[in-house]
Amino acid sequence: KGDVHDIGKNIVGVVLACNNYEVIDLGVMVPANVIIEKAIEHNVDIIGLSGLITPSLDEMVFVASELEKRGLTFPLLIGGATTSRKHTAVKIAPRYSGPCIHVDDASRSVPVVGTLLSEKSKTNFLKETEADYQRLREEHLSRQKLRDYCTLEEARENKLQIDWSEYTGLAPKKLGIHVLEEAPLETIAEYIDWTPFFMTWDLKGAYPDIFNSPKVGKEARKIHDDALTMLRTILKEGVLKAKGVVGLFPANAVGDDIELYTDESRSTVLETLHSLRQQTKKRAEQANIALSDFIAPKETGISDYIGAFAVTAGIGIEPIIQRYESEYDDYNAIMVKAIADRLAEAFAEYLHHVVRCEYWGYATEESLTTKQLIRERYQGIRPAAGYPACPDHTEKAAIFKLLNAETSTGIRLTENYAMYPAASVSGLYFSHERSHYFGLGKIGKDQAEDYAKRKGMSLETVEKWLQPNLNYTSGN
Ligand code: SAH
Repeated sequence: KGDVHDIGKNIVGVVLACNNYEVIDLGVMVPANVIIEKAIEHNVDIIGLSGLITPSLDEMVFVASELEKRGLTFPLLIGGATTSRKHTAVKIAPRYSGPCIHVDDASRSVPVVGTLLSEKSKTNFLKETEADYQRLREEHLSRQKLRDYCTLEEARENKLQIDWSEYTGLAPKKLGIHVLEEAPLETIAEYIDWTPFFMTWDLKGAYPDIFNSPKVGKEARKIHDDALTMLRTILKEGVLKAKGVVGLFPANAVGDDIELYTDESRSTVLETLHSLRQQTKKRAEQANIALSDFIAPKETGISDYIGAFAVTAGIGIEPIIQRYESEYDDYNAIMVKAIADRLAEAFAEYLHHVVRCEYWGYATEESLTTKQLIRERYQGIRPAAGYPACPDHTEKAAIFKLLNAETSTGIRLTENYAMYPAASVSGLYFSHERSHYFGLGKIGKDQAEDYAKRKGMSLETVEKWLQPNLNYTSGN
């Protein structure tokens, strides 16, 4: 529900279908009651749930408790990028009397389904899984007690120290909002990072070494050739369109928030972004970081800036997918989505490059090879909401509003803040030389409460969005 990425789910569907299982695919953004009604209607043997973004974790718990409420015991298979054995064991399984199994990759779905459908092997398998999950739950409990956290106040005192008195940040050459109506896909394609492409297909290894892998080299080569052929057709026929928007704004940090201003007078706040601060106890010399630390605090009087962007390479993908699906060509239906995802990420890399060198212009001297670009060996970062430094997906609402991104790019935010078309990327730009990616880790209730207040949200809502990052057990 509210989640749109379905490549992994589709691969599982194809793999199972190839092994003679009948798969009823309900698509994406499916609410619990539809899943349950269809399962009953078709008297299915197993229900599979897939999710990419954090709120889907909660949604899976909800599906399990709805099944429980109705006294149903369909075995549940749990999969997708955010899910884990631990989450399944700690959060989902305790809510459900039926079997509940985390399946970490598509190829494992066949043996797991086979085992669950065999009366003989099922009992033992479930017993082993339950023992494994029990151990994970106990580990989780003891770990929770072991970790040391500091209060929000202590964390703030230990923020990243940047000497702003020495700071000579560069004012962007082109402040304000810029729309890229038809971005140059040919150029963008040169920025493609192929390694994640192989991960999408469950082939392990980094590009280009993967081609020499004795285990998956041959398949990797074949799938890459097919991708290049399709990419060439896409570029030649112009069937996919890329659209993007970028904004550069005067900004200052106010506490853990970042205020964006309408103009250089900095008197009117255009939008406020909210960042979260690490609360795990740090060794000496290590800071409790928040993204706001990379922006000059308001009280320094220094003119600092921030950027925001949203890009998509998925405009026009729907008819292509539909055509392949109507021809029962799952392989190419998945392939075109995987390529569009690559182009969207490549677009983000390309745009970041253009921003550093032109729009913002703080790195006009930069000269990096494609490989160095893909490794992000440049000054500045583009953290994306929903990723480790800023796990709160709802911040996308502020970014989208700021950029008027729905209108200018055609990207829509779903009820759970996933971006549709799925081949989309959005985030913020920080230019300071000390800005870097980090993981937020777990936060305390003091910060959850403070964050809720700053965002004007209820504590419950914040807990829903930040569930994997709470160092305490929330109400749900
Ligand atoms: N070349 C990769 C790029 C995506 S992964 C690809 O084609 O798939 C790297 C991106 O993820 C970063 O540019 C950033 O937008 C995001 N990211 C990585 N680590 C992050 C973190 N800790 N916090 C926030 N965003 C992060």
